[in-house]
Amino acid sequence: MAVGDVPLEVFASIRAVVAEQTGLPVVVGPSLPQPEHALDAKRRQYSSPAVLAGIFRQANGFSGKLLGVTGCDLFIPMLSFVYGQAQLDGQAAVISTARLRQEFYGLSSNTSLLLSRTAKEALHELGHTFGLIHCADKSCVMSLSTNIHQVDLKLGRYCAVCSRAIEEKVKR
Ligand SMILES: [Zn+2]
Ligand SMILES: [Zn+2]
Repeated sequence: MAVGDVPLEVFASIRAVVAEQTGLPVVVGPSLPQPEHALDAKRRQYSSPAVLAGIFRQANGFSGKLLGVTGCDLFIPMLSFVYGQAQLDGQAAVISTARLRQEFYGLSSNTSLLLSRTAKEALHELGHTFGLIHCADKSCVMSLSTNIHQVDLKLGRYCAVCSRAIEEKVKR
């Protein structure tokens, strides 16, 4: 689901990649408004836990995973920013496209790069909702990225170990 304005092509890309990698049906949920309640005026960033809580509130008996996608730059108090956040082995996750855009780094816009980065981060946060922790394989989407180069180094898929772990979860 969108949290604030998110381009449709971002959803199409996430939907296709998540369906392919997890074998699960993916539906685009209702959009949430720009999360002004989560804005930290001093940091000019949005509190990731507050945005995540807003997404989780949408569960309403739905038992699947809820992934929110936002253009807002997210942070948690101890980090200057996060690409996303998830409830470990839980239901809700959020990713931010803010720092996945080339424009953020003063470069010219690159849609295909944005879409591949967004899909990687979506798989990463969804992996956490399936109980996966960070993977030591730097090419696996479950490896930790603290900068955009590390995001770009990852392949847009789960490694064999992570993939099997998700399959096990999905079967249950
Ligand atoms: Zn992570
Ligand atoms: Zn892995």
